[in-house]
Amino acid sequence: MFDSIAERLEGAWKKLRGQDEISPSNIRDALRDVRRALLEADVNLQVVKEFIAEVEPKAQGTKVISGISPDQQFIKIVYDELVAVMGETNVPLIEVDTAPTIILMAGLQGTGKTTATAKLALHLHKLNRSCLMVATDVYRPAAINQLTTLGNQIGVPVFDMGSDANPVDIARLGVEKAKVEGINTVIIDTAGRLQIDADMMGELSRIKETVKPHETLLVVDAMTGQEAASLTHVFNKQVGISGAILSKLDGDSRGGAALSVRRVSGTPIKFVGIGEKVEALQPFYPERMASRILGMGDVLTLVEKAQEEIDIADAEKMQEKILSAKFDFTDFLKQMRLLKNMGSLGGIIKMIPGMNKLTDEQLQKGETQLKRYEAMINSMTIEERNNPEILSSSPNRRKRIAKGSGYKDVDVSKLVGDFQKMRSMMQKMGQGDLSKIPGMLGN
Ligand code: GDP
Repeated sequence: MFDSIAERLEGAWKKLRGQDEISPSNIRDALRDVRRALLEADVNLQVVKEFIAEVEPKAQGTKVISGISPDQQFIKIVYDELVAVMGETNVPLIEVDTAPTIILMAGLQGTGKTTATAKLALHLHKLNRSCLMVATDVYRPAAINQLTTLGNQIGVPVFDMGSDANPVDIARLGVEKAKVEGINTVIIDTAGRLQIDADMMGELSRIKETVKPHETLLVVDAMTGQEAASLTHVFNKQVGISGAILSKLDGDSRGGAALSVRRVSGTPIKFVGIGEKVEALQPFYPERMASRILGMGDVLTLVEKAQEEIDIADAEKMQEKILSAKFDFTDFLKQMRLLKNMGSLGGIIKMIPGMNKLTDEQLQKGETQLKRYEAMINSMTIEERNNPEILSSSPNRRKRIAKGSGYKDVDVSKLVGDFQKMRSMMQKMGQGDLSKIPGMLGN
């Protein structure tokens, strides 16, 4: 909250002199903090470097909102950029017109691929999309059992051919079955290895070529940290992915893998896994993830609040008007309403000549005075509001306004007089020296 309009104008004046813009020197600390925050969130080092190298010049010259520091403003810019890089909004799963939609699951062993398959099936099941899960991990019989058990649990059928069949055939026949039965979506669980190897990639590619999935989702363990970037790079290059599911986000991880995956593959994170249970799947929200990665919630809230209170474009226009003495009754009314919304009339009252340095009682009086002003301004025509000068020379106009607002002629004359004084005071400020204006800087 801004204490007074004097402070805000001081801020505006500073900005005009170019003192409160983001520059390499005034964000040095913030840069270090952001870099550390991203690394602590396990964003891949190279990704951190590239990301910061891109954001910093973008931020240069950005005007700082009064009430916050250049550092804080920079952190907000980084946050906005993180949101932008991660995709602004949630990207839903593809659903094709002619069923079935085919989803291929990929990932290393233990990342949560089988669990994610069931989670996804349950998610779609709840959206009334019928599903078939296909078990192609013939190397670990336990994997087939795991999927069958999960299928029973959520009421979604599982297609398997035991552990002697060829994974490519299983996938193909699974899709055939879904077609015949008019099932909406087929989700194919595949075998993973502890590490990327040529066999796994080869098999995945063959399944992909055969069934031509609409989505190939890479399941990435959020705890993987730095590795997420290279993992994504290899899967995307060798198999091609359309998106990712970030699992195990319920753990300690701050989720930096999300940024790495997005940057490296250019594909969206579609879901996050937040627990072992089949229900523990959520759509991915870039904003939530950006705050988690940055871990600077306090700063972000502060800047957002400051932004809400001041529409920058509006404030800049107002500044220009104030300093060039084009400030009129329309602006005055706008400022009064703005300050009222902010819950403090004290600020604008101090602008009224002779009303700075006020006691509470006097402030109260000032508030009443402003209400009277508002009523009188409301009785002015648009022409009069926009050209306050015409009121100085027209007693008839003042009389009409007095009548319309229920006040006396002298009251309107006083408003017109006070307003002119205020304008000339603002003009002085525009010419440079704020400190010469009584009451402006607490003098
Ligand atoms: P797969 O080898 O990739 O198929 O991995 P699994 O689906 O078998 O999962 C490996 C382990 O991670 C299991 O113990 C799962 O319960 C667990 N797991 C999977 N997803 C999550 C998650 O989002 N959060 C947590 N905490 N555990 C998960």
